[in-house]
This record gives sequence, structure tokens and C-alpha cells, in this order.
Amino acid sequence: AKAQGQHGYRFFTASMNERARAQRRIETGLRQALPGNQLKLHYQPKVDAHSGRIVGAEALLRWQLNGRDLYKPDQFIPVAEDSGLILPIGAWVLRQACRQARMWQQAGHEIPISVNVSPLQFQHADFYTWLDDVLEEAGLESRLLELELTERMVMSGGEATTGLLQRIKHRGVRLSLDDFGTGYCSLSYLKHFPIDALKIDRMFVRDIISDHDTATITSAIIAMARSLNKDVIAEGVETREQGSFLRHAGCSQLQGFLYGMPMPASELQKLLAEPVSA
Ligand code: C2E
Ligand code: CA
Ligand code: CA
Ligand code: CA
Repeated sequence: AKAQGQHGYRFFTASMNERARAQRRIETGLRQALPGNQLKLHYQPKVDAHSGRIVGAEALLRWQLNGRDLYKPDQFIPVAEDSGLILPIGAWVLRQACRQARMWQQAGHEIPISVNVSPLQFQHADFYTWLDDVLEEAGLESRLLELELTERMVMSGGEATTGLLQRIKHRGVRLSLDDFGTGYCSLSYLKHFPIDALKIDRMFVRDIISDHDTATITSAIIAMARSLNKDVIAEGVETREQGSFLRHAGCSQLQGFLYGMPMPASELQKLLAEPVSA
């Protein structure tokens, strides 16, 4: 039993070392990514659940070399968070996304842009000032910006967080809760926070057609959120059946591969210029 234990321990440390090495490799590369112009934003359309029109877009970060992804966000964003690199990277993302939304507006396509905010950015003492500066510099009206926060970020900070959320809200920026249902935010808390919208997590959407309980829970979340006057957006919609279920359950906007993959800004602009097809 002892030998087995030792073996298990060695195995454990070997894989830990490998993980740590992979993290360091990503971190070293990531330091060069911003100055080396390897970071890009892709934009995924959000459509109106009823008309199918594009009514928004989420900015999603890509790390690319010669047009190919080096790592997926799920691999490098956690490293960026642990190393603090998410601060300069997140600043770049927000600036870039706001400039893009302004350019679309000038081209006659007025759609709000949604930007993912990491906990480290949000906790930073200068977050508000910096947000304000970015909007000013981009010349973007605040109603054309939406920040996607997670339940944890909103729940964990106490009064300081509520105060910050209120300032952002008063500035006119929209706030939405991402990955809703995966954290520990109870719906009853929602009324205390100045949140405009909830994004139903992809995990729910994936199972709504095949699993009766998931369908029931999702419908209940949507109904309660709406009774608190929150918009509900579903993410990860891949099939027509899912889309139709979510529309009938009361989602106002839908997002997912069914309506459009994350794509370069130029491609989304082409879609924005097209007439809506049924
Ligand atoms: P998220 O905010 O939940 O973003 C949605 C993710 O689901 C994106 O993955 C998107 O490509 C993917 N997705 C969209 N529609 C579908 C669908 O129909 N089916 C499936 N299977 N997936 C779909 P992506 O781009 O790989 O990003 C992963 C996560 O990385 C994001 O999850 C977000 O948490 C984080 N992230 C991405 N960009 C940024 C950023 O600029 N800043 C921060 N802090 N986090 C980011
Ligand atoms: Ca998001
Ligand atoms: Ca999400
Ligand atoms: Ca997610």
C-alpha cells in the first residue's frame, strides 16, 4: 500500500510540474502577445429573439499567430488572471471594443458591444476612472457599452461592490450577469443589484431539449428574472429547437453558433449591412 502511495505521489507531482511548466510557457508568450500584435477581438452576434435582427455583439479575445489560434481563452485567460497580465490585456480589450462600437455607429450600425470583465480588473481601485477615460477617449456613448460580470464578482464584494455597480449604472453603461446559474447567486439577491440582464449559461441551454428538469429550471429562472424586470439572454444556442424553446420561455435575446460564430469585426459588419432573412 505504501509503495502504491509513493507511486501515486510521484505521479501527482509529475503532472503538477507539467502543468506549472505549461502555465509558465503561456505566461512568457502572453507577455509578448500584446506588444507583438497577437491579440485580436472576435465578435459574436446577439440576436433579438423575435425578429432575428442583430441587436448586439460580444467581444471575445483571441490569441493568434498567422491567423491561427495559439491557445483558447479558457487556456490563457486563467494564466493572464494569475499573473496580473489581465490588467493590461483587459484594458486593451475594452479600448478596442469601444473603438469598434464607435466605428460601427459611424457606419450606421448602432449596436451595443458587450465586454467580459475579469475579477482582477473589476476589483482594481481605478476601475471606474479607467472605464470613464476609455469611453471618453473612444467617443462612445455609454449606452452602447455593456459589461459582462460573473455572479461571484457581484456577490463577493459587499457594499463597495454595490457602490461601484451603481456608479457604472449611473454612467449609463449596461451591466449583465454572465454564466448565470453556475455560481451561487440566488435570484432573490438580484433585486439588490443594478443589473440589467442575465445570461443563462450554456450548460442549461445544452440540455433544455433532452432533459425535462433542466427545461423546468430554466423556464423558472427566466420567468423570475423577468418579473424582476431583467432582460434575459441565452448563450450557446446551437439548434432551432433550443432557440424556439428559449424564445417561448421569455428570453429577449439569443446568442450562439445557430445565429453566428465569433468572427472578425469586418465580417460582422457585412452581416450588419445585410437585410434580415427569415
Ligand atoms: P463566455 O464569456 O461565457 O463566452 C462564451 C463562450 O462560448 C465563447 O468561448 C464563445 O465562443 C462560446 N460559444 C458561443 N456560442 C456557442 C455555442 O453555440 N456553442 C458552444 N459550444 N460555444 C459557444 P471563447 O471565445 O472560447 O471564450 C471562453 C471564455 O473566455 C469566455 O466565456 C470568457 O469567460 C473568457 N473570455 C473571452 N474573452 C475575454 C476577454 O476579453 N476578457 C475576459 N476577462 N474574459 C474573456
Ligand atoms: Ca461572456
Ligand atoms: Ca457566458
Ligand atoms: Ca463561460
